[in-house]
Amino acid sequence: MSLLILDLDETLWHATYENLPQAADCVYKGRNVYFRPNAKQFIKEIAQISKLAIWTSAKAHYAKYCLKKLTGDLRQFAFIRTRKDCKKEVQWNQFSNETIYIKNIADLDDAYIIDDRFDCVIPNERCIRIQPFYGDREDSALTEILISVQQIVNK
Ligand SMILES: [Mg+2]
Repeated sequence: MSLLILDLDETLWHATYENLPQAADCVYKGRNVYFRPNAKQFIKEIAQISKLAIWTSAKAHYAKYCLKKLTGDLRQFAFIRTRKDCKKEVQWNQFSNETIYIKNIADLDDAYIIDDRFDCVIPNERCIRIQPFYGDREDSALTEILISVQQIVNK
């Protein structure tokens, strides 16, 4: 059985200090958290055919707080890895530098990760890339990738 790992920010939800037109799904330390349309349903569907886990570059308390609000139950996940489980790298360019957090899933057998940041996953051929979510109420990306994700984890 495959292991499907889910990223959180911009994959399952978007957190921002701004107020979007719709009501926030939860609030964490002043940040409004907007769940991606169909996120809860997507997790339910995938859980029937694959083990699930979480790997986020966010900090643990925030990640678990919002994930509990979204899914109700954290015990369904094989693991929840957070920022401390990522490899921190600074990417330099001419004008600025960016700190990125690398998720290395090479040692996990038959694992795939759904992530909006293809460049932060090693090996990146096991990243199922999804468009980043910034709160669009019409977003349908999770529904659109469901069938291909089912095919990948079922093979
Ligand atoms: Mg992300």
